[in-house]
Amino acid sequence: MRVFYTPQLEEFQPPYQIHFGRVVEASEVSGRARCVVKALHEAGLAEIAEPCRFPLEAIEAVHAPEYVRFLQNANQMPFLDPESDGKPFEVIFPTVFPYSDRWQQRASAVMSLASLYCFDTYTPITPQVFEAARLSAECALSGAEALLSGEQTVFAACRPPGHHATRRQCGGYCYFNNAAVAAHRLSCAGRVVVLDVDFHHGNGTQEIFYASDAVGYISLHGDPATTYPYFSGYADELGEGKGRGYTRNFPLPPQTDDRTYLKTLEEALSALRQMSPRFLILSLGLDAHGEDPLANLALTTECYAAMAQRIAYLGLPTLIVLEGGYNLNRLGELAVTFFRAWEETRNSISPEKEKSV
Ligand SMILES: [Zn+2]
Repeated sequence: MRVFYTPQLEEFQPPYQIHFGRVVEASEVSGRARCVVKALHEAGLAEIAEPCRFPLEAIEAVHAPEYVRFLQNANQMPFLDPESDGKPFEVIFPTVFPYSDRWQQRASAVMSLASLYCFDTYTPITPQVFEAARLSAECALSGAEALLSGEQTVFAACRPPGHHATRRQCGGYCYFNNAAVAAHRLSCAGRVVVLDVDFHHGNGTQEIFYASDAVGYISLHGDPATTYPYFSGYADELGEGKGRGYTRNFPLPPQTDDRTYLKTLEEALSALRQMSPRFLILSLGLDAHGEDPLANLALTTECYAAMAQRIAYLGLPTLIVLEGGYNLNRLGELAVTFFRAWEETRNSISPEKEKSV
């Protein structure tokens, strides 16, 4: 299986994040994707390839150009707070959020732009962020091109992750929505469904395609009533306009076990089949595991093998995109468990079965 990855993804190092007003250690750390890729390589499951360079238009197909420009300019910004002692700093978090739709267009100071283009305090803007986010999206785009050339399974080892990034805002450690950028590219050749198994609801992917029937979105995640990103991911969000019925959410209560999870996954896969996709994008977060520090489900490592078997059995050309997963001691093992089961299932499916789905 081809794995798109470059060590340059690790050059972005968020120094910290702000949680409930307190400075805490960053969770989305440099080295997450490297852990996964190294384990897959050692298990003989990965043929590592560098991503290609794409024009920014490929990213602007799903992100507002002014937002892309904001991140791009972050390495030239005078990171100076005019209200402080004038000492430059190397990381920005918004501290004032827009309080009216009416006057937002006048934002021009660094702080007001950060507030406009960032929806939480987990997602720092640094001079390195644009290049890492662009390369991460290019891993997914390279995977999309590989599927269009006939490959059946490709893995984009993206970092930073993407599924929380909306059309014009970063948040949840996400800057460009890697899965959405790839889904838009693939949708020129047929319908795409994004299946999101990250512990957190992919609010960005849902928002970008909410009114579309060209890209469906299906997600299993922790209940947003108590869990980030809080404002979306409820079961009654179903899409709008011609996208009505092409969004499906399956919120899960805390301590959900393997049995309940896999039963819910079967329901999600049944909804997925009804959307008749030509391509599947799997937003693979590894943070639904019981030992992930940011999550509250109780899934075992073995559950990742069972998930892989069920999803692989669909027989669809599939781009798997890395999303979250924050237990560095488990990421490698989870990825190997998932991809080993995926490859075994794919190898067991006859060519007739692949054609008939
Ligand atoms: Zn997550």
